[in-house]
Amino acid sequence: LADKLQNTLQKLKGKGKLTENDVAEAMREVKLALLEADVNFKVVKDFVKIVKERATGSEVFESLTPGQQVIKIVNEELTELMGTTQSKITFSSKPPTVIMLVGLQGAGKTTTSGKLAGYLKKQGKRPLLVAGDIYRPAAIKQLEVVGSQVDVPVFTLGDQISPVDIAKAGVEHGIKHGNDVVLIDTAGRLHIDDTLMDELKDIKTTVKPQEILLVVDSMTGQDAVNVAEHFDTKLGVDGIILTKLDGDTRGGAALSVRAVTRKPIKFVGLGEKLNDLEPFHPDRMASRILGMGDVLSLIEKAQVSFDEKKAKELENKIKTQQFTFEDFLEQLQQVQSMGPISQLLEMIPGAGGKQMKNLEVDEKELVHIQAIIQSMTTGERKTPTIINGSRRKRIAKGSGTSVAQVNRLIKQFDQTKKMMKQFTDMEKTMKKGGKFK
Ligand code: GDP
Ligand code: MG
Repeated sequence: LADKLQNTLQKLKGKGKLTENDVAEAMREVKLALLEADVNFKVVKDFVKIVKERATGSEVFESLTPGQQVIKIVNEELTELMGTTQSKITFSSKPPTVIMLVGLQGAGKTTTSGKLAGYLKKQGKRPLLVAGDIYRPAAIKQLEVVGSQVDVPVFTLGDQISPVDIAKAGVEHGIKHGNDVVLIDTAGRLHIDDTLMDELKDIKTTVKPQEILLVVDSMTGQDAVNVAEHFDTKLGVDGIILTKLDGDTRGGAALSVRAVTRKPIKFVGLGEKLNDLEPFHPDRMASRILGMGDVLSLIEKAQVSFDEKKAKELENKIKTQQFTFEDFLEQLQQVQSMGPISQLLEMIPGAGGKQMKNLEVDEKELVHIQAIIQSMTTGERKTPTIINGSRRKRIAKGSGTSVAQVNRLIKQFDQTKKMMKQFTDMEKTMKKGGKFK
């Protein structure tokens, strides 16, 4: 997916202006990316239209290619559409703040009730959980377990009393016991049905919740639109919590649900554990849906600090075996001006993610390397072969490193140069049509 987008970027590279064709071509790929992320097709259609209108004829930033410019607009619009600011829970001026969690069965209501209770408790609130699902076997027990894990009391009247009465009694219990937030876990169905909606409406009119939060499973993709639309028109929702984003879903449901209801996404669930809840970040979600890591900011950073002409020069130097410590130093500095290496790696699609975080890049090592090269004379940088024993000692002293470190760097440099030579030789051989042994 990211490859596809990058291909588009590549194709458009070098063109001077953002024409209708440029936009149309880039948007074809964006459309595919969105559909692949399981964004509802109607939402995709509307979105593409908006971006086309905005992008066509717009000025191309000097530092960007037309393709990058289109992607930049796409990313901005996507972020905008999903809400540019983080949305928080609004608390009632007259406590307790009553919050109802609604959604289909299995969406994650009960788990999220517990997560949210724990989250609010950490913020100094005194939440109470109310077990309003009397249908699902063991639903009450499940909430009790969850409640005890986050050390939040759970109010239940068993499963023989109507959910409306339970909710009402739960809120009264909360008032009596000084709870400033009352979270009502409700029942879900596999599919939307009117009996359920009526019950939820009854609870709503009875306890007048400050917030009705719709819990949506991010893996439901296309379906999420119908669910959200239905809950919002029949019941009215104030916000959305998107669960199961820890899976490999691209999160298209976020865009769909948000576009249809226009209600803010407030939290995202990132796992089964009770602390796997985070406030929603529209920008992160936009990147996730487009499947390109933070490729946009990488593009931006690279454009600022990397000069294409210099890159060409460098390529030639490597090919003609003129690569020196001087060039090496320049490379290092260029990379460093883009930010910490670890952060750069994270932004590269594919390279980013959890595995990469474990691979710690030693920034200190880079500082040492830089210091060593800076302690070399111009002559030494250009012709490393002249760096003999006494020169090595001097360089080590000047850079505050050891002779061993200097030796290592010179050795690495030699090896890198040899490797580069092998690559260019291989390229030459292949161009001639020969085989490389
Ligand atoms: P409910 O029917 O809406 O109350 O849904 P539950 O809270 O019982 O959750 C259904 C299943 O989804 C359970 O197995 C949960 O552990 C799981 N679940 C809920 N939220 C998340 C999440 O953010 N990530 C993952 N991986 N699983 C979740
Ligand atoms: Mg439940």
